[in-house]
Parts: sequence; structure tokens; C-alpha cells
Amino acid sequence: NRKIVLNQRPQGELQDGDLKLVEEPVREIKDGEVLLQILWLSLDPYMRPRMNDSKGYMDPIGIGEVIVGESVGRVVESKSDNYQVGDLVTVYSGWQEYCIIPGKAEMVYKIKDVGAPLQTYLGVAGMPGRTGYHGLVHVGKPKAGETVVVAAASGPVGTVVGQTAKQLGCHVVGIAGGPEKCKYVVDELGFDACIDYKAGNLDADLAAACPKGIDVYFENVGGDVARAVAKLINPGARVPICGYVSAYNAEDQSKVETPFHIFGKLDPKPEHRFFLVTEWQDQHQKTTALLAEQVASGKLKYSETIAEGLENAPEAFKGMLKGKNFGKQLVKIAD
Ligand code: NDP
Repeated sequence: NRKIVLNQRPQGELQDGDLKLVEEPVREIKDGEVLLQILWLSLDPYMRPRMNDSKGYMDPIGIGEVIVGESVGRVVESKSDNYQVGDLVTVYSGWQEYCIIPGKAEMVYKIKDVGAPLQTYLGVAGMPGRTGYHGLVHVGKPKAGETVVVAAASGPVGTVVGQTAKQLGCHVVGIAGGPEKCKYVVDELGFDACIDYKAGNLDADLAAACPKGIDVYFENVGGDVARAVAKLINPGARVPICGYVSAYNAEDQSKVETPFHIFGKLDPKPEHRFFLVTEWQDQHQKTTALLAEQVASGKLKYSETIAEGLENAPEAFKGMLKGKNFGKQLVKIAD
């Protein structure tokens, strides 16, 4: 079994030597246990803060421990009545090629084949998709005709936020890095507009795309983008704070101006709060099915960037935090 562990805590951007590939034999499974071979690994922004020593909403990864992450795995051996060889599941395996789970493990879900590609259960039909969907609907509470803005618009969370808001009849404006991503967000995903925040004209471009101001800002990135959005926030607006990836590599988190600062000092204050996708854990199966069916029918569009082989996960992860990914960043581990 090859796995990637935390070798030392990164200072700022991930450097060579922070993560380490190690190899060890897969042990025999015991009664009640299940052996999974990992097929696809998901790379997600939240993994970066977990490499730091500070306690956030989740514990830091320990030195020498496998990097956390969700994957799609196939049962290759089972000593549990709950799983049969060949079953496909989503599982928090971490960055490794095999993993052993108890037959009654929580947060392991069997994948029902409804025609959605397997790896989409890590993207738009998986955790990021549910995040976008629930955060928008329950915290953003958009109404038809309102203006919804979301950044990291071509990524899996933003993709679902924007397409769901369009389905609800909103005026939807994406923000993304570079003309290629912006064109895709409008032409393929069907947003009304998409602003390239790297083009150097963010305030004016955003104001032009949001002539009636902003009613819902789904916060994925923070930083300069959030400051530009804040200038256009309408009274009564809602700001679901999902994450702020612009700060994830910051060396000193205490110096970061977070979205809580940016939106908390507005007058009137928009309704803003941080949420975790797990708040709607009871709706996991229902929402996964809804999104997977939309993927299968072609209603929910998405894109993905695939790195091949576990050894290429660190480079792909580093790139994702800088926007090198186009759509969901995945690692293909096995067929
Ligand atoms: P993405 O696949 O969209 O990847 C991150 C993207 O962020 C990059 O591709 C890049 O896109 C953009 N980005 C990076 N740096 C900046 C910057 N300085 N300013 C603006 N944009 C930047 O990620 P996901 O869709 O997986 O996740 C989106 C957000 O959702 C993250 O903040 C993540 O932490 C959060 N999240 C929160 C969850 C929760 O439960 N609260 C659960 C899951 C995700 P571009 O090229 O367009 O700049």
C-alpha cells in the first residue's frame, strides 16, 4: 500500500518535503472488516488548513499521518455481511491506494448506479456538490429574480451553486480566474455573466454585471474578491460563508482579513454565517441522488481535471489552491 503522509508542517505554500510517499504491506483483514482498493481520490481546498498546527473546525493532521481525503473505493475483500466484493463506495480513506474499514463504519456510502460517472460522487454529485446545494438553498435562501454571486465559479461547489440558482430563477454572476474559465461558466454552465477577477477591473466589471446590487453572495474565496462584492451588497442580503481559499496558504492566519470581518462591518450587516456541509448530513442520500440524477441526465454540467497516480497528488493539490485546476481536481489511482 502506497500512501502520502504529512512529513512536516508547510509554511505558506506546500514545498517539496512537506509530504512524503511511504509504502507498507496491506495487513490481513479481521472479522467484520472490509478491504477497499481506492480508484479515485478527491483533492479539496480544506486539506490545506488541516496541515497546519492550529485547531479549526477539524483537528490538524498529525506528523506521519496519512493526508485526509475522500475517495471512491471498490471492495476487494470482505469479512463483513454489510459489504460484498465489487461494491463501490465513497469513503474517507485518506491519500492511499488501499484502506481497511470496519463493516459498520460511518460516513461510508454505497454508490447506486444511476448513470453518473463514478468520480462525480467526489465532485458535483458528492461532498462539494452537496455543499453548494445546501449552502445556497438553506443559508443563501435565494428568491427568483434576485442576484446571486459566486466565486471559484468553475469549481465543483461554484458550479452547483450557479446552476441551482439559475434553476431557481435568479440572475447569476460567477467570478473566476482567466478568460477561458469565464467563457466556460457562461457558455456551458449557463450563468448570466462571469467576471475574470485577474483582469484588473473587478469593481467596475462586477458593478456592470450586477445592476441591481447583490442579494446572495456565496463565499468561497474571501480576500480581494470579497471586498469588491461587499461594496455591492444590498440591504437584507445573505452571505453563506463556505470557505475562503485565498487565505489557505497564508503563513499567519491571525493577519488574514476574513469574510467575517469584511461582511461583519457593513451597515446594514448582511445575514452571514459559516456553515459546514455536515449540517445536512441527514439529507446526504437524498441530495446525492438528486445531483447524481441531474449529472446522468445532462442537466447539471461540470468539468474535471485529472492527475494520474497517487505520486502526482501533491503537485495537483498545490496547483488547485492557485486555480490551475479547471473544474473538480481528482487523482485517478486505479481502474
Ligand atoms: P475549487 O475546485 O473551485 O478550487 C479552488 C479554486 O479557488 C481555484 O480553482 C481557484 O479558481 C480559486 N481561487 C484560488 N485562489 C483564489 C483567490 N486568491 N481569489 C479567488 N479565487 C481563488 O474548490 P471547491 O469547489 O472544492 O471549493 C470551493 C470552496 O468551498 C473552498 O473555499 C472550500 O474550502 C469550500 N468548501 C467548504 C465546505 C464546507 O462544508 N463549508 C465543503 C466543501 C468546500 P479560479 O481560477 O477561478 O481563481
